[in-house]
This record gives sequence, structure tokens and C-alpha cells, in this order.
Amino acid sequence: MTPPAPVVSDLAAPYWAAAQERRLALQRCDRCDRWHHFPIDRCPSCGLSDSLVWREVSGAGTVYTFSVVHKAAAPGFAEATPYVIAWIDLAEGARAFGNVLACDPNDVHIGMPVRVVFEEREGFGLVPNFGVAA
Ligand SMILES: [Zn+2]
Repeated sequence: MTPPAPVVSDLAAPYWAAAQERRLALQRCDRCDRWHHFPIDRCPSCGLSDSLVWREVSGAGTVYTFSVVHKAAAPGFAEATPYVIAWIDLAEGARAFGNVLACDPNDVHIGMPVRVVFEEREGFGLVPNFGVAA
């Protein structure tokens, strides 16, 4: 069994559309220049709703914090254990969430350089995650 497909809300649709083109796009407030992830409908910093713009980011970043999952209860994830979930500080100043793939979970550490990778999820398409930066 594979992990379930993400549920694409109207709010997050631009995030997923960019991912299908192998681009990582996050919302940034043009008024206060703050990045936001996960998708929101109003900037929590300045309170404006019409100032949020989807912008592409490089996908380069470092591990801010992480957790190694050894026992997953959700269907489709148990077969993937152990796996790493992490918050990633992107070069642009945004913080993104995802798995750290294709490396030994014991090698993951805070400050580790990573880069976005796009994982093919059967029946869905591409899902942004992260891999060790070359
Ligand atoms: Zn703002």
C-alpha cells in the first residue's frame, strides 16, 4: 500500500499545480514581504487577504527540525518506516514541510543542506519533498 494522495483544497491548488511542473511555489505577502506555508487565505502578519501572491522558490534550504517516524499508524505509511518528516528553512526565508528522502534517517541533522525533490505519488502526481543537497 502506498501513502494516500494529498487532498487538494481550492486554497492549496496553486501549490499542487506548481508541483506538477516540478516547481516549489509558496505564498508571499506583497505588503509585508513575509512567506507563508501552509496555504492561508489572509496574511496573519498584516491581516490582508489580497496581498498573498504565489511565488516560486529555489527549493534549496536546510533542516530546521525533524522527526524520524519508526511506527506509522496511518494507512500507507507503515511500509515506508523509518522515514523523516522535517521543517525546512528555505533560502528565501520561507519554512516548508516535507519528508527528507533517499538518505539514511540516522544521517539527517539540523542544519543539513537539502533541496526540493518531486516524488511521484501513484494515482496523484508529484509531491514536493526534500533530498540531500548535492
Ligand atoms: Zn502581510
